[in-house]
Amino acid sequence: MADPAECTIKVMCRFRPLNSSEVTRGDRYIPKFQGEDTVVIGGKPYMFDRVFQSNTTQEQVYNACAQKIVKDVLEGYNGTIFAYGQTSSGKTHTMEVSYFEIYLDKIRDLLDVSKTNLSVHEDKNRVPYVKGCTERFVCSPEEVMDTIDEGKSNRHVAVTNMNEHSSRSHSIFLINVKQENTQTEQKLSGKLYLVDLAGSEKVSKTGAEGAVLDEAKNINKSLSSLGNVISALAEGTAYIPYRDSKMTRILQDSLGGNCRTTIVICCSPSSFNEAETKSTLMFGQRAK
Ligand code: ADP
Ligand code: MG
Repeated sequence: MADPAECTIKVMCRFRPLNSSEVTRGDRYIPKFQGEDTVVIGGKPYMFDRVFQSNTTQEQVYNACAQKIVKDVLEGYNGTIFAYGQTSSGKTHTMEVSYFEIYLDKIRDLLDVSKTNLSVHEDKNRVPYVKGCTERFVCSPEEVMDTIDEGKSNRHVAVTNMNEHSSRSHSIFLINVKQENTQTEQKLSGKLYLVDLAGSEKVSKTGAEGAVLDEAKNINKSLSSLGNVISALAEGTAYIPYRDSKMTRILQDSLGGNCRTTIVICCSPSSFNEAETKSTLMFGQRAK
């Protein structure tokens, strides 16, 4: 099962429509699409496994990005789906789920708000896990959705400015699938991580100080460690720097090896955000 040739990293790119404030400001719609896999910004083409134009439906995105991974997880593989992009680019919209979160490198349990600083341990097979994190036994899609709602409302309770907070923390939802064939007693397990990353925008160096600057440094560090791990996997390098951040440590057994990984690069189509959009697209290109 751990055939390295099986390990695939797919990078998809999604543009949302212009929003009302962008339209009001008179921003231009800048992406030009070529075929199903290329977007041109400022004359430069960026190629991905798939590029979704602004009118793509949630169902089309799910079918192209998640369906295959979900099927593989049910067959015993591990997988991770990431949403990467600046704040307001459509990450949460694309994931539909929003559990624990990593904020300032602290792991907080979103199903038990009394657990605010969980640690990463390794089991006897050296597989990392978040020690003490609440696990729920679920049997139906409704129970999964209820669990997600519970985590979401806990997230709201704990912070005053939800929008700002969600753009400054990574939220990670883990679905562990365990199956047993009662006749053959054969066991099958797979896990799926859904990762809604912190906003990738650069915090202006001049304006930020104190806590805001600490946050910005932390986000930059964890996003760049993730970028390093993914490009090392894409290049097939022997050494993969998983240990450089808490997030990559936790995801270690679902990135590389016996795994399926999809990164959805989320972009604003507005001329106002051109510089951020280019740097977002470059992040995605590093994974190819
Ligand atoms: P992020 O999580 O990246 O900060 P959101 O997912 O919260 O961004 O999206 C910001 C706003 O844009 C939300 O109101 C969301 O509903 C809307 N939006 C995002 N992507 C799309 C899309 N593809 N089509 C329509 N509306 C979208
Ligand atoms: Mg969000």
